[in-house]
Amino acid sequence: MAKPVKKRKNRQDSASGMKKPVQDPAHFAMEKAFTVSRKIKKILKQARSAEDLAAGMLEILSLADKACEVIIDDFPPPHPIACKKGCGYCCRVKVEATIPEILHLAEYMKKTLTPPALAVVRGRISSVSLKTSAREENYWVEQGIICPFLVDDSCLIHPVRPFACRCINSMDIVGCRKFFETKDPETKILQYSYQKQVYTACEMGLQLGVAQAGLEASWVELTRALLIALDLRKGTKDWLAGKVLFASAYVKDPLPWYMEKAGHQSHI
Ligand code: SF4
Repeated sequence: MAKPVKKRKNRQDSASGMKKPVQDPAHFAMEKAFTVSRKIKKILKQARSAEDLAAGMLEILSLADKACEVIIDDFPPPHPIACKKGCGYCCRVKVEATIPEILHLAEYMKKTLTPPALAVVRGRISSVSLKTSAREENYWVEQGIICPFLVDDSCLIHPVRPFACRCINSMDIVGCRKFFETKDPETKILQYSYQKQVYTACEMGLQLGVAQAGLEASWVELTRALLIALDLRKGTKDWLAGKVLFASAYVKDPLPWYMEKAGHQSHI
């Protein structure tokens, strides 16, 4: 689910020409949360269509990805991140997302898939949704339910995947494989916590901005929410106008499971 680690160029302070390192990852993440919340409020105020919202969400995702690159530069993972294209061990869990992420994703699918391909993917989403409706998180793992977007162990929607997917990473491919093979929920997988902290903060900022804009703000289950978004003719416009559209996809817990306090490394 995670982006492979990539070295970025030094950041330069325009005045001094010196790189300004991050002092405190938690503070840095919190700053990003507030930046995202301010940005999404502005985007929501100006957005009139699904295209406007999608363009704004691309800016938010780019901001978050850059923040993650910064934290990787300044607080590198203690072990190499094992995530790479073609590895989908972790894409077998219930995914929770915010509503603008879902609307962006629906728009991306409509824009990038041909009508027959969209119908096939919609069918896969619907089948997973039917199987998992009202089930708890561990049902996905126990039953080996695969995310409908995982095709040949690659994510079909990788550029616009939700923050929940961007959070997850592993420094332990052996642990990932073991979890996949045994389905043992006690399996410990070493992960790089600062990546999770930054993306979680950005997701929180997004949710906060939506709530402050007075729009429907809740965590929703990916497959159920996407079916709603794909089937509504004027979904984004209506949501931007303040309508409540996703109630049947709300997740039970107010906060997603991955929002725990992060150190430098922790276990999934
Ligand atoms: S959307 Fe699905 S396939 Fe893509 S990264 Fe998330 S869990 Fe994996």
